[in-house]
Amino acid sequence: MKNPPAPSELFTDEEKARSFFEAKRWPDGPVCPHCGEVDNAYKLAGKTTRKGLYKCVGCREKFTVTMRSIFEDSHIPLHKWFYAIHLMCSSKKGMSAHQFHRMSETFYGKKMSYRTAWFMFHRIRFAMTQHPLMDKLCGIVEMDETYVGGKQRFRQPHALAPGTRPMDRQSPLTKKAAVFSILQRDGNVHSRHVERVTAENLKPVIDSMVAVDAHVMTDSSTVLAGALTGRRHDQVNHRNEEYVRRENGVCITTNGIEGFFATLKRGINGTYHHVGRPYLQQYLNEFDFRYNARKISDGERTALALAATEGKRMLLHKPVSMEGGTPKIN
Ligand SMILES: [Zn+2]
Repeated sequence: MKNPPAPSELFTDEEKARSFFEAKRWPDGPVCPHCGEVDNAYKLAGKTTRKGLYKCVGCREKFTVTMRSIFEDSHIPLHKWFYAIHLMCSSKKGMSAHQFHRMSETFYGKKMSYRTAWFMFHRIRFAMTQHPLMDKLCGIVEMDETYVGGKQRFRQPHALAPGTRPMDRQSPLTKKAAVFSILQRDGNVHSRHVERVTAENLKPVIDSMVAVDAHVMTDSSTVLAGALTGRRHDQVNHRNEEYVRRENGVCITTNGIEGFFATLKRGINGTYHHVGRPYLQQYLNEFDFRYNARKISDGERTALALAATEGKRMLLHKPVSMEGGTPKIN
């Protein structure tokens, strides 16, 4: 595209947003998603015609640029999608659907419903999901687990119901969800929501993501030691206040993964407040995506997310209820 429009125009002008997406997705002219023919279609321009509709000369089928992307079947204009994607890519701790729902009024003069905003964000997270690893994480790999959400209240003994035995008390972690993350030093992070942190649960995750000859670094967790049997593995002992150690010129630490967890926790606790367990993995995909694109600019990160919207379709045909203010897919 010779003169790419200013980002602000992409967020306010539907036509410009559409031509921008067409130029990005179809650099050699419109591609028919039905028969695959390139640059052999004409634009339909009737008064009642859908915006951006093309007709393929080869197979006579109609199509638009949003087909086979996360925008397919959506009534939300493209410029609003672009704005939502941009906000999500440029906010380090994430952007909640609630905040977008409130902000949409100032930006567009009309408040978008919370439900609509929720679905947009849900789909964007889906686009951000990384493909199953082509190349396994290698070199120096740090891994650790953390717990997010589900604040345990009434932990003090006096708040327990009379007659509660000490063994019936809940552990502070009972309501929290476990997250296990693996980071290649100076490379990408991959996070998984696991039901329970056990060697049996973690081993398959590690084996599917980490090369056999990687040098793994963890804290002194015995669970991880169990899951890493047979691998090259070094530990730092946080209990002895050891965080960084040098051995044969190699820096042994888990500071990288701890740094990722710090952002993740600030985001989950500060921006999203409550993340339903069924959706946690999608939030993790979002945080992984932003972290893995941390070295590029906000604009480049937005472009990367936009490119990831292609070929992904998430159709929700199932009825949706809004129990307790949060949309639930039944
Ligand atoms: Zn065709």
